[in-house]
Formats: sequence, structure tokens, C-alpha cells
Amino acid sequence: MTNSPLPKNRDNMDQDQFLTILSREEALERFEAGLFPRPVPTEQRQLADALGCTLAQDIVAPIDVPPFDRSNVDGFAVRSADLASAGEATPVRVKLNDEIIACGTAPTRPVLSGTATSIATGGPLPRGADAVVMVEHTQPVGPRAIEIRRAASPGQFVSYAGSDIARGEALLRAGTVIGSREIGMCAACGIAQVTVARRPRVAVISTGDELVQPGRPLGPAEIHDTNGAIVTAAVNENGGEAIFLGAVADDAEKLEAAMRRALETSDMLVLSGGTSKGAGDLSHRIIARLGKPGIIAHGVALKPGKPLCLAVCDGKPVVILPGFPTSAMFTFHDMIVPVLRRMAGLPPRSDAKVVARVPVRIASELGRTEFVMVSLVEGNDGLIAYPSGKGSGAITSFAQADGFLKIDALADQMPAGTEAEVTLFTPHVRVPDLVIVGSHCTGLDLVTAQLAHAGLSVRSIAVGSLGGIAAAKRGECDFAPIHLFDEKTETYNTPFLGPGLELVPGWRRMQGIVFRKGDSRFEAAKDAKAAVRAALADAACIMVNRNQGAGTRILIDRLLGDNRPDGYWNQPKSHNAVAAAIAQQRADWGMTIAPVAHAAGLGFIPFADEHYDFALVTARKDRPAVQAFLKALASEEARAALTRAGFRPA
Ligand code: AMP
Ligand code: MG
Repeated sequence: MTNSPLPKNRDNMDQDQFLTILSREEALERFEAGLFPRPVPTEQRQLADALGCTLAQDIVAPIDVPPFDRSNVDGFAVRSADLASAGEATPVRVKLNDEIIACGTAPTRPVLSGTATSIATGGPLPRGADAVVMVEHTQPVGPRAIEIRRAASPGQFVSYAGSDIARGEALLRAGTVIGSREIGMCAACGIAQVTVARRPRVAVISTGDELVQPGRPLGPAEIHDTNGAIVTAAVNENGGEAIFLGAVADDAEKLEAAMRRALETSDMLVLSGGTSKGAGDLSHRIIARLGKPGIIAHGVALKPGKPLCLAVCDGKPVVILPGFPTSAMFTFHDMIVPVLRRMAGLPPRSDAKVVARVPVRIASELGRTEFVMVSLVEGNDGLIAYPSGKGSGAITSFAQADGFLKIDALADQMPAGTEAEVTLFTPHVRVPDLVIVGSHCTGLDLVTAQLAHAGLSVRSIAVGSLGGIAAAKRGECDFAPIHLFDEKTETYNTPFLGPGLELVPGWRRMQGIVFRKGDSRFEAAKDAKAAVRAALADAACIMVNRNQGAGTRILIDRLLGDNRPDGYWNQPKSHNAVAAAIAQQRADWGMTIAPVAHAAGLGFIPFADEHYDFALVTARKDRPAVQAFLKALASEEARAALTRAGFRPA
């Protein structure tokens, strides 16, 4: 990139940049080449403030630890040769010297042959003594002598000077991350200050007119700034010292001023947002004016994370992370953390990996290295990795996943059954005690709360009723929550079970038509069928539908017959999305469950009392967590909570 004046047509410029999309490896290589080698700045820190810092120099032990030969037990310092003949039947009598060596007492009298000196654990051995006899193995004979009934080998119960740490020994090496053990070693040697790598100061700025800091209420079309908090935490987790400067509006002048100020006082600048081709995307243009060489990569063949922008401005790394939080986190961990750790003098992060089977086919974009977040559950033969992504805009997919797998840039899919390598977010696999895969219902949390309080971990993966049944049949979960209506038998759920599955009744939930209170088209309707008739009669009335495979969708289709009113193709995947669309006037009616309608303050016309039940995998029935769930489901506590929330326990 050069400092050429901006072309008039900004779209051309964007296209130039995205035309040179680099592979992840090449982008990282160029970024590192632009930054390293560089010296790691150091600072002195008090030991107490050094936790988590990286040692910048080797530490050589300045003294012996222990500094003197010392007793490991309470007893008597002796000459071992005096006790050569000691035994049960042949006790040896020795005279006691006239001193007691407590901790911190320097001995003044030698232990001559035939004598012993009383000594406490930690006391320094007196001259002449070469062993210690435990007090339990002696017998007092008057106030001035003892009898000893077993021999002592030289050095018995003695720690010699320097036996723990020897003066001149390399105690700790540069690059060691200081933990409590390292702090202990320094303290033992009397070291109060250490030279550590100075944490790089990393300025963090979020960009976007729509951003509001957590703690403040949202206006229309606003969202909370998520990246600011995430990046700040991730910087601190990886050896940096984050300085969060808040969110800056999409305003070229303000943004440039903020970026310049940030760079003056920090070693690195991390922005997020504004890297795609949206109208407000300015930051990458500003970078070109901040220092040389400027942008190194804009557009990396990563998914999520393609719009990542990497730059070096007069020796300082400047990064623009994609706006979507999940993309921001992935690119930060994959591309920025290695650089940050190197600047912080830290060793590369070592991630734990496990092999797990992928139960479903995962489609992938050809030409981009794709990261897919997964939840791990225990299958019949080994670990199973469920893709848990909800799209790159979703933050919970990151927080609830156990790790991620990587699909090669050259692959267009990962077939079902693949044994994939999963990089863990935590040092160890934590498989949940109970796995629930299927349709999600807010009532479920009211039951599993009891398990969580009892220390059992529950993983609930929302894939819809049919996906849940399929997972249950493959033995990948304990329960599949389902609400499936069978037209033929006009019954719920039971017809959908297969061999190896049994039905555990859950609760009823009233499905019905939702609308904004006061909407006369619906207020006047005597039931759901009449409400839908009224909606269909008005061409200006817009509906919000549900996704194919949802139990709710089956009900909607029953009401609509062959009609396809405006809004039919708007098919969100959750009850809450339906309620939000209507509350915010993007749609006028839809179908959802009564508790969700009431929580959103919407009008509700009941339609079907739906059965939300559980398909239990019989082979897993004896597991303690399954038993705990069944107990919780039947408990008075859960039934009362469900009732309060608007459900009817079976
Ligand atoms: P952008 O790259 O600015 O076009 O942003 C892409 C998407 O990410 C938009 O939906 C933004 O609202 C969203 N986004 C950008 N920055 C943040 C942030 N700091 N926190 C949460 N979402 C963000
Ligand atoms: Mg933006």
C-alpha cells in the first residue's frame, strides 16, 4: 500500500484490496516479518506484582537453600558413630548438652562424643553432630540424659546446606512465565525484584455508529459493544496490557484523531468493525496515513474473518478485526495472539487437542480456511464434535463451544463421520454429564437448573425436534426434546420414536397467534382460525413464519393451507425472533408459545396445546445424570416453576 491520494470511486479501492486476499499462513508470515525481530522491552517488578509476567533474564541462585545443615524433625542432634551398637536390647545412653536449638537459634556448643543436643525441626545442626534422632525413638533418663534404642545413619533427618537450591545454580530461565511456584523459588533465595518483559500496551477501539457500551440502554437499531470487552480480556489473557478507549463513531476525523492518540501512548492498536464494504468503513483508509509501511494484508482467506486487516505503522502493529464478534475473536486468537505473545516475550500458546467424530456433514466454502466451533459430547465409542456455530454474528457459539475444528481451504465440506482434530478452548476436555439435543424450550432451563445446582454439567444443543431424534438414534445424547405432531394419528411425539427410544412426558405449552395488542384485525377474532382468515383478507398484513422442521411450522402450515401471504418466506428459527419481529412492527402476526408472547407484551390467541416431551435413549437410562434429570422433572420445585412460566407439566 502506498500513501496515494484516495481514488474518487471508493468502491474501486475496496475491490483492489479484496482482490489480493492472502492465505492465512502468508498473511501471518508477512505480518510477523514486518514486526520481528525486535527487542522485548523489560522492567523491574516486585515479586508480588510479577505473577503472570515473563522472566526477561535467567535468575542465578544468590545463596544456598537451606543456608545451613538443618534438622528435619524434632529430636536430638547426635554423632551417628556413638549409636553404632544401639538396639532394642542394647540402648545407648548419651548426656544432654546444655542448650536447646529452636528454629532461629544458632548453636553455641559442639556435640562431643557421648552427647546429644535437643533440636527442633528447622534448627541448625551444631558442630560435631552428623545426624538427628527423632524424639519418639528416645527415652529420657533424668533431666540430663537420654537413652536411644536404634542406630542412626550419618545424615539421618538432616537437610544439607544447598541441597534444595545451590548457590550459583540457574534457578529460572528467561521466558518462564511466573506462577506461584516460581515466586516461591525466588522468595526462598531472598529475591524481591525480578526483571520481566514489559507487557505491551495495547489500545483497543471499537468502531460503529450503532455501538452502545454495556450498562447503557439500547435505542432503536443499536447494539451493545461486544468486541471492546472481548478484545480487552483476550489481550490481558495473552500477556498484553489492554487500554480500552471505547467506541468511536464512523466519522473519519474523529476516528483518525482517536487512532493517532492511541498510537502515541501504546505499542499496538486493535480496532474492530469497519473492515467490510459498508458505507461507514473508514479505518483502513486512515491507516495509510499513520505510518510506514501501512497495510500488509487486507482480506485473509479465513472463515470467519475474511475482512481482517493487518498493518504495521512505524514499527507498531495496527489491526482491524472484523466487526462480528465471533469473527473478531477467531481472527484475534488465530492471527494476533501469536504476535502479541512474541512482543510480550511469551512462548507460543500451546493448545490442547483431541480427536472427535463429526456426526453431520459440514459444508464449507472452497478457498477459505474455515473454523467451525464444536460442542463435545461422549458418544458410544468416543468423543463426538457437534458444530455449534450460529453464524459469525453469534457470541454464544463461542462461549458455549468446547473448541473448534479446521476445514482446509481446499475442501468444500467435511463429511459426516470424519474423525477431526479439535483444538480445545480449555486445557482439558470437559464432557458434560447430561446431553440434550433437539428442540429448545425456555422451560428446559427451569428443570436443568436443579442439576446445575447439584454440580452436574448439562449441555443443551438446539437442532430442532427432527435433528434431536436423529441424534438420539445415533446414541449421541441422553434426551431429545421434541414436539412433533403426527397428522395421521393426530397425536404428538410417540409416532416419531424408534427402537431404543422411549417417551418421557414433559409439559404442554400453548401455541397461538401473536399480534400487537390493539390490532383490531386480531382483537376481533374469536379463535386462531378466524384470526388467520382476517390476516389473509388484508393484503397489507405481513406475517412472520418459522423454519422448516420446527414443530411450530407444522401448526402454521395447518392454518395457512395453500396460502402464501406476505412474510411467509421470513423464517426465523426461534420463538423469540417471532415475538421481536412483531413487537418491532416488521411483521403483524406469527405463531409462538404463550410464555414468549406474554414476556414480549403481545396479544395471544391460543391455538394448539402442544406436547413438549423427551425421547430418552433407553441405553443411557442408568446414567446418574439421566436419573437426576428424571427426578428434577418430576419434582414439585420444577413443576411449580414451569407452571409459573406458563407451561403445564404433564
Ligand atoms: P462492520 O465490519 O463494521 O461492517 O461490522 C459488521 C457487523 O459487526 C455489524 O453487524 C456490526 O454491527 C457488528 N459489530 C461491529 N462492531 C461491533 C462490536 N464492537 N460489538 C458488536 N458487534 C459489532
Ligand atoms: Mg461498522
